[in-house]
Amino acid sequence: MYFYKTLNMKQVNAYATAASTAELEPMPIERRDCGAADVEIQILYCGVCHSDIHQARNEWGNSIYPMVPGHEIVGRIISVGNKITKFKVGDLAGVGCLVDSCRDCEYCKQGDEQFCKNGSVGTYNSIDKSGKPTYGGYSTTIVVDESFTLHVSEKLELKGVAPLLCAGITTYSPLKRWNVRKGQQVAVIGLGGLGHMAVKLAAAMGAEVTVLSTSDNKKADAKKLGASHFINTRNADATKGIAGKFDFILNTVSAPNSYDVALSYLKSKGTMVVVGAPPEPTQIAGFSLIIGNKNLAGSLIGGIKETQEMLDFCEEHNIVSEVEVIPVSKINEAYERILNSDVKYRFVIDMESLK
Ligand code: NAP
Ligand code: ZN
Ligand code: ZN
Repeated sequence: MYFYKTLNMKQVNAYATAASTAELEPMPIERRDCGAADVEIQILYCGVCHSDIHQARNEWGNSIYPMVPGHEIVGRIISVGNKITKFKVGDLAGVGCLVDSCRDCEYCKQGDEQFCKNGSVGTYNSIDKSGKPTYGGYSTTIVVDESFTLHVSEKLELKGVAPLLCAGITTYSPLKRWNVRKGQQVAVIGLGGLGHMAVKLAAAMGAEVTVLSTSDNKKADAKKLGASHFINTRNADATKGIAGKFDFILNTVSAPNSYDVALSYLKSKGTMVVVGAPPEPTQIAGFSLIIGNKNLAGSLIGGIKETQEMLDFCEEHNIVSEVEVIPVSKINEAYERILNSDVKYRFVIDMESLK
């Protein structure tokens, strides 16, 4: 069903890793010329997601090398194909985790392209319809079909918008789906890139938010981000008071953690949604769900329509990510700091540094 087309290619600068144990380093890559339905984007900022590390190091077992990570992309459009209707040269644009899908299956038609039955195409670590590997945002430009390109507000600070393209939508989508609202007690486990966006979004939706963290030094920030309470989960005395407290928990932890313990913090009939994706499987006792009719669910990023809805919500509520801007040469150091939970709260690469 897919159309194979022969396209001209253009060489651009990027940062890539050659193997699961290798560091990232400069590597030129080829981008296709702007096709009729494509936009070409000069990348200005790219966020650094923990998923970049999982995949660069083949922790999920599906890595393709060389790999150019990066799926939190914002920039300006520098050329457009002749069938483009929604963008023009000079517009700001965003690209998240998806760059293509079949557009025809039941999930694509529902706006859930991430579940495309014929295989969605990831922004990196994926194979596109022409059979070539996709390369992500740690690069100077990217060419993307306009249907997978997002409109970005000129009103928000651009560097803080980049992380919305993954951390924002991944947390917005489950908060919306479970109708998080005023009058509810919501907990966010893990105050990293996803976690800090979840706090801002859940607070904007009207919920009373508690941060459950292993890092005491994030307490003051949690309050500034919009949380009403902060609990250090390594402090047994502190966690005693939160048994059965929450209507909804969003678990963003990137490393193995006890779902049994987390579920004990839910009210009866409450829901915990897992978005954190540690590579190791998690054991869970049936009784952690049975007692209290509790719900455990997962959530994978979000479709294109919902991603635009999230960007519009953030514009309306003046929400951006808290970022530490780095030159691309600091990316390996940044990975180590993320692994040490030492980022407040998202690294964003200034792509000027790669020119
Ligand atoms: P991150 O910035 O590293 O944040 C993860 C946070 O988890 C850390 O800041 C830390 O928060 C907590 N944490 C880390 N190690 C821990 C441990 N051993 N025990 C308890 N808490 C720990 O990562 P991120 O970019 O937000 O991504 C989080 C996870 O979500 C990753 O696994 C990523 O791959 C996944 N992800 C999933 C989706 C999806 O569609 N489902 C999308 C994007 C990312 P504290 O310091 O507060 O404890
Ligand atoms: Zn991500
Ligand atoms: Zn599909």
